[in-house]
Amino acid sequence: MSLVDNNTATPPLTVAKFGGTSVADFTAMSRSAAIIKHSPDTRVVLISACSGVTNLLVELANGISEPDRRQQLLQRLGEIHYGVIKELRSSEPVSSAVNVLLDSVSTLAAQAAKQPNVKLTDQLVSHGELLSTHLFTQILKEMGVDATRFDIRDIMRTDSQFGKAIPQPEDIRQLATARLQPLLKNQVVVSQGFIGSDSQGETTTLGRGGSDYSAALVAEAVNATTLEIWTDVPGMYTTDPRIAPAAKPIKEISFSEASEMANFGAKILHPSTLVPAIRQQIPVFIGSSKEPEQGGTWIRESVNEAPLFRALALRCNQTMVTLTSLNMFHAYGFLAEVFRILAEHKISVDLITTSEVSVSLTLDQTDTGGGAPTLPEAAVEALDKLCRVDVEQGLCLVALIGNQMSSTKGSAKRVFNTLEDYNLRMICYGASPHNLCFLVKEQDARSVIQELHQNIFE
Ligand code: ASP
Ligand code: MG
Repeated sequence: MSLVDNNTATPPLTVAKFGGTSVADFTAMSRSAAIIKHSPDTRVVLISACSGVTNLLVELANGISEPDRRQQLLQRLGEIHYGVIKELRSSEPVSSAVNVLLDSVSTLAAQAAKQPNVKLTDQLVSHGELLSTHLFTQILKEMGVDATRFDIRDIMRTDSQFGKAIPQPEDIRQLATARLQPLLKNQVVVSQGFIGSDSQGETTTLGRGGSDYSAALVAEAVNATTLEIWTDVPGMYTTDPRIAPAAKPIKEISFSEASEMANFGAKILHPSTLVPAIRQQIPVFIGSSKEPEQGGTWIRESVNEAPLFRALALRCNQTMVTLTSLNMFHAYGFLAEVFRILAEHKISVDLITTSEVSVSLTLDQTDTGGGAPTLPEAAVEALDKLCRVDVEQGLCLVALIGNQMSSTKGSAKRVFNTLEDYNLRMICYGASPHNLCFLVKEQDARSVIQELHQNIFE
């Protein structure tokens, strides 16, 4: 007798996302397409722009006044996309669409050269995903998959904060039910990560690396039973194997631990990705489209093992801001005022430690494309009136992820004993049972990770 009640069991439905390296060129796209072909439950596929394309588009959007340089970038864009087209069996169905989009990039880039602005930037940058989805849909079709290209802007409703728009899950669900769901019965839908549109129909983007988040939002909206994130590494590791070669793959990890990983280090997932998955309890799989047979990491609500130490993440290019109030000793309202100013300038903070008269914090790095974030000048000016402002860079964030660390005797000792030769800054411990983190100097980062990994994981 089957334990599953077939009348009420949700039919399996997978939403799969393929990142830039998984759709970098014809070979990568073909590998990714084969994964979809062999997974009949995959009905929605979201992809990124071909690797490197978003960077080129961002550069154009920032406004390049020198026509030669602009031409150079446009040519590079052409090469990437025509490189795929020339491998297709029949290029006819997509080459005209690609041409129209490339022409539009050229027109918008010329406008940006005169006067760049955030709205124009989103419009321009969205072309990466609009282009890649044309090519990828055609590759799937040529492999015999009944695929159709869908414009995600028809359902991915956001607010109008260009460059980092906030998705509206209720609207997305309603729109997806009406416009996307009916297509899923018979076809595999291919669509764009990263981009959306506001209530006026203007194109928006969710911030750099936002395709993961897009896929999670769509998975939530169509009640998917699995979300797959295909990238260029076979899931999460106990630490970056390029730094510590003894790093081990993580087969299974809880939502809470993985959220800490995504927020505090591992660049493998956009930090917001897990929010919709957790809301809807959708298990998430991360794997490599290059080596799907290697398996990957499953992220779920409950897992079989909850080890004290799970993984060690590293994120460099940290900006630490220390604010010191000289006349607020034993007074109140200093922190409130500091955070009011930060909020007013929409500055998102990662770590924070405080003393009686000072507070140190690190700036959120999600949308810098990996570079060090800076404090906007207007914010510095406002803070300057209140306190002394010191900004330090050249720092890396080391985050140790695990379970019940703050309530397990000796866990901090094991970490700090190992690192007695290093200068550790901004130690944050205890607020979450899943996370202990601190800053180190950039030149110490690798050896800190190596020594910690060796002592607590090997
Ligand atoms: N293409 C966008 C980027 O490079 C979004 C993404 O790939 O997630 O940031
Ligand atoms: Mg990405």
